[in-house]
Amino acid sequence: MNRDVVISGGGPVGLMLACELRLAGVDVLVVERLPEPDQTIKAGSVNLTTAEAFYRRGLLPAMDAVVQQNFAQIQKFLESRGGNGPKAVPVGHFAGIMVTSGGVDFTDPAFRDVGPAARVVVIQQQAVEAILAERAAELGVEVRRGVELTGFDADDDGVTVRLGDGEVRAGWLVGCDGGRSSVRKLAGFAFPGTDPAITGRQMMAELTGTDVLPAGWQHGPGGLYVHGPTPGRMLTVEFDGPPADRDAPITAQELEDSIRRVSGADIRVIKVHSATRFTDNARQASTYRQGRVLLAGDAAHVHSPFGGQGLNLGIGDAVNLGWKLAATVHGWAPDGLLDTYTTERHPIGEWVLEWTRAQVALMRSDVRTKALRQVVTDLLHTGDGATYLAKKLSGVLHRYPIDGEHDLTGRAAPDFAFADGTRLGERLHDGRALLLDLADRGDLRETASGWAGRVNVLSAKCDSEPALTGVLVRPDGYIAWAREDGSTAGLEAALRGWFGEPA
Ligand SMILES: Cc1cc2nc3c(=O)[nH]c(=O)nc-3n(C[C@H](O)[C@H](O)[C@H](O)COP(=O)(O)OP(=O)(O)OC[C@H]3O[C@@H](n4cnc5c(N)ncnc54)[C@H](O)[C@@H]3O)c2cc1C
Repeated sequence: MNRDVVISGGGPVGLMLACELRLAGVDVLVVERLPEPDQTIKAGSVNLTTAEAFYRRGLLPAMDAVVQQNFAQIQKFLESRGGNGPKAVPVGHFAGIMVTSGGVDFTDPAFRDVGPAARVVVIQQQAVEAILAERAAELGVEVRRGVELTGFDADDDGVTVRLGDGEVRAGWLVGCDGGRSSVRKLAGFAFPGTDPAITGRQMMAELTGTDVLPAGWQHGPGGLYVHGPTPGRMLTVEFDGPPADRDAPITAQELEDSIRRVSGADIRVIKVHSATRFTDNARQASTYRQGRVLLAGDAAHVHSPFGGQGLNLGIGDAVNLGWKLAATVHGWAPDGLLDTYTTERHPIGEWVLEWTRAQVALMRSDVRTKALRQVVTDLLHTGDGATYLAKKLSGVLHRYPIDGEHDLTGRAAPDFAFADGTRLGERLHDGRALLLDLADRGDLRETASGWAGRVNVLSAKCDSEPALTGVLVRPDGYIAWAREDGSTAGLEAALRGWFGEPA
């Protein structure tokens, strides 16, 4: 083998996966078709689950710096349009029905022990990618830009990957090559779903005449538009089917015509800085693994961007897959570990597809949909409704189907605050699993000793609610085992089940 793993696609998901694999000591090559990072405007925010994934790897300060700049810009934009500034910090939206933090009950148990990652919200995809590219370089990941995957042959022992500049033999191939994934198509993964019915356009542009347009989500005669949250940013949605030619270059004229149709206002597009078209094509690979070929991110699932979940979904795939694939490469993965990637991640992808379909249904302009939208608006503006939306969007309700008696099993670990002033997130930087010994139990430490090198052990004091005595946190931050009674019952089985036979 020349390489343990080849990743096709150096977008956010490919880079995140590469960082996770390299951190675990895997030899990984990323091939990316584009010679330079893609500057097209896409995601403008991340959710708590994504911010936590970065936090757990020590990347929160880099995100924080961007977020502070963005908040200053947004505040200025909202103030210029009569908004009420910081009190109206948006939590997210459903079909354009905006929910702000003031309405959310953050004392809800689901938000318990949410750590500093909660302050990361508004950050552009380009900034996320830049942080990951820098991290990948620091870790020594080879990213070959301007190189396209053109084909591959997979057998029982590995994959021969054909690239624009030659061939590579690898143990595993992961397609992180976006919604039109070459890997997915060449491998023949089934990709069932629903056809598109809308065309959306998003732009960063120099515009004139926008003084008449209020900020935020607005329904107009021919569809809807979103103005802001920063100057020059606009999004339009029209319910007239998918674009005739989705590969045609996007012109200023096309954007101007679309804004006029949806807003009825005389807007001019003077200069386009960045623009993209999207649809509500919603499809998902029925499995994320076929032998030695895997999919992650948009390659595994596509849907409309409403509610801002696509990037989050892909980052979640990467952190779930990374340590499992690394364990497989290193030869200590228990049977079936790699297949838990599909078992755990597919249902979350399915939920996102449904969530986005529901929003498209609620965005239509007809009178019946308008009436229904008012009902949903009223519900989301109640305390319970706002809290429900915040929990759904943040990812705190995600639970993996992991066997275990404790209620926390399968959930993302709370960001426990330890008596020495550190928090859990700071203890996961090396990408290993962590066994928390919270009641000074020698038998617990002894049980884990066979997994040294795969599972770190931390003896610490912590006022958790409920009062836990031991917690096994997987490298992706999810809980594999927990107890409140000081017992080690079930611990050895959990260690074997996730981290193989003891060394
Ligand atoms: C308008 C819009 C707004 C969005 N807003 C949000 C949001 O607010 N929040 C959110 O979470 N998500 C949002 N998304 C979704 C988000 O942008 C995507 O989910 C995310 O880009 C997926 O990342 P990825 O790495 O899987 O794929 P991509 O970002 O598509 O990266 C794939 C990479 O693979 C490369 N590639 C393709 N084929 C090959 C090949 N054969 N060989 C080598 N390289 C190849 C491509 O050049 C590309 O760089 C939005 C999307 C759009 C379009």
